[in-house]
Amino acid sequence: MKILISDAFDPSLPGKLSRFGTVTDDHAQLADAQVVLIRSKTKCTREYIDQAPKLKLIIRGGVGLDNVDVEYARSKGIEVYNTAAASSVSVAELAFALMIAMPNHLVKAHNSMREGKWLKKELKRTELFKKTLGIIGCGRIGQEMAKRAAAFEMRILGYDQVEIKCPMIEQVADLDALLPQCDYLSLHLPLNPETKGLIDSDRIAQMKDGVYLINTGRGKTIIEEDIVAGLESGKIAGYATDVWYSDPPENTPLLSAPGVLMAPHIGASSKENLLRIGDIVLELVEEFVKSGKA
Ligand code: NAD
Repeated sequence: MKILISDAFDPSLPGKLSRFGTVTDDHAQLADAQVVLIRSKTKCTREYIDQAPKLKLIIRGGVGLDNVDVEYARSKGIEVYNTAAASSVSVAELAFALMIAMPNHLVKAHNSMREGKWLKKELKRTELFKKTLGIIGCGRIGQEMAKRAAAFEMRILGYDQVEIKCPMIEQVADLDALLPQCDYLSLHLPLNPETKGLIDSDRIAQMKDGVYLINTGRGKTIIEEDIVAGLESGKIAGYATDVWYSDPPENTPLLSAPGVLMAPHIGASSKENLLRIGDIVLELVEEFVKSGKA
């Protein structure tokens, strides 16, 4: 059996998988691969799948399957899995780090020191304590975010299309009710037809003046130009994002906008999470082999 590791996984994974067959990271061997392991970079489109006639199993290390044409894969008898539960703590810790970095001006403080400046008077911080956090999308990651915010004694409101079963989150009926109340808004939504472009100029107009936004969900759930307009007018005090229209982003106005804090899609990339993802991948490959489908 040939296993193609197409994207970045923990370096220990190839060795651990070698008992199941030949492991390669050579994309030219796609046509021979029965198992393909991807993260977010590889796009398993119809064309990609057509280049892999022996493919029987796709495993996406991470949450979501928006980079896989799942319907087409399944129509070809290819099983598709992800490792959805593994990444929650890792992403929530990054979201929290982004949230706490903005009102503490950590990047500006650091950069100004490097430039030989002493901005002790200029850099006025604000606290998270007693502020209101709105969590949009209260699934696994949103709930991990809530736990961390509760430790900082924030008031936590949540919006989701389903009932939120997390005692720390006070569920509100809709975005109309949520947005005007929040000092911080953290987006933890998947990308789907309802969430695409959800945060636009109309939604921004409903927010408190000086709101901080954190997006570790998906880049396309916001309209970049509208966020930039909000930052330039001062309506939005800060936008921290780990997620983009494309990886890496091309021609995004966010790169030069004021009040932006950026990360290169590293939410799931903690050392611990890569090991957790690797363990789940091993279990899935083992099950696949044991089932006799290999
Ligand atoms: P999850 O499925 O547990 O939670 C998503 C929540 O969003 C669910 O509760 C769902 O009901 C809600 N939702 C979906 N569509 C909605 C809509 N239209 N309106 C309101 N609520 C809606 O997923 P999760 O594990 O918490 O992950 C959330 C997202 O985070 C993923 O879909 C992915 O896009 C993103 N993510 C990013 C990184 C990263 O590296 N930054 C890593 C992992 C996941």
